[in-house]
Amino acid sequence: MTGTQREACPHCGWPDRAEPFQIVSRHGTAAGHTVWTRCGCGSLQVRVVDACGMRVLSRSGRG
Ligand SMILES: [Zn+2]
Repeated sequence: MTGTQREACPHCGWPDRAEPFQIVSRHGTAAGHTVWTRCGCGSLQVRVVDACGMRVLSRSGRG
């Protein structure tokens, strides 16, 4: 199990496991879906949600 990640936004500390500040868009994939979210500090995140749960694929800087 790798479901106990304690990742958080490096810019503002918003926990990845919390509700996203804003969901920008969702895209369905074969395995699940990809969700683009924007943090409260303005950082864009790409999250992948599949049968294994949610993980952050990449994270942009602010602005
Ligand atoms: Zn943030």
